Amino acid sequence: MRCSFLRYLALALVAGCTAEAPRTRAASALVPALQASAPPARVVAVTFDDLPWARTGGYDEARLAELTADLVRRIRGAGIPALGFVNEQKLEAAPGREALLRRWVDAGLELGNHTYSHRSFWTTPREQYQADVLKGERVTRRLMAARGTRPRFFRHPFLNTGPDLANKEAFERFLAANGYRVAPVTIDNEDYLYALAYDRAMARHDSAAMRRLGADYVRYMDTTFAFYEALSRRLLGREPAQVLLLHANALNADYLNELAAMMRRRGYTFAPLDRVLRDPAYRQPDRYTGRRGLSWLQRWAITRGAHPGVEPAISPWVAEASAPDR
Ligand SMILES: [Zn+2]
Repeated sequence: MRCSFLRYLALALVAGCTAEAPRTRAASALVPALQASAPPARVVAVTFDDLPWARTGGYDEARLAELTADLVRRIRGAGIPALGFVNEQKLEAAPGREALLRRWVDAGLELGNHTYSHRSFWTTPREQYQADVLKGERVTRRLMAARGTRPRFFRHPFLNTGPDLANKEAFERFLAANGYRVAPVTIDNEDYLYALAYDRAMARHDSAAMRRLGADYVRYMDTTFAFYEALSRRLLGREPAQVLLLHANALNADYLNELAAMMRRRGYTFAPLDRVLRDPAYRQPDRYTGRRGLSWLQRWAITRGAHPGVEPAISPWVAEASAPDR
């Protein structure tokens, strides 16, 4: 409640500033105070996991091509230099899936490695996990080579970085030896649960439920940004350039414009991941090795012995609509 009220206040003050400041001397005297309430200049890299598509089961191939085209077009239209992380195993499920990835590359978007088969490092021996990384780069490497570039970033499935520090660090050395850098996430969230409920609503042609889910999703993501921004300030005394994790799904394809507008309202501009990772925050140690996938902000907090906070929950009705037994 407090965060949303403060945001409302900030927006109301900014609106007042725009409307009134040029008119009178008294109003212009207010400008410095009003500017102090405006959202700060913020930077975010937007990344999409589980390419070519997060849950391919509910769609035929023509629909997947259409949805991918929508998602990529909206990413480009919003001016987002997004990066997509690929699970190449999904390319083998049906012919023509490589064309879905080519859409990203042809739009000038970068691709990274998310392992071949999306295993968790927690339950996979490191040698097998590393083999899955190398198996998962063949098509991506070829597609990017055609554009004179190569995959540079690796995203851990489930954000699990391994069962202990020795394996975590050995794997990071393996990544570096193969030209990869870990792609951290600071704005973690449960978009995939909203997306699952959205897919189910779409399958039963329930457009009212889809709209309700979409609106609540954008509200939830707004709250999630506020949470990680506050955690940033508590932990670092400032907000670093952030990294947002999203998944390639119909919800994000349909609501990308609304999400981008929400981020802009919060003061964000979009930057490529390599530029965001120049922020010195990303040089601090992460010694978290728990099973649960966490934001790097929470990992840094745990590493320092600070409380990682409790992330905003999805709405109870969305939890119900995305429950596995439905
Ligand atoms: Zn994933």
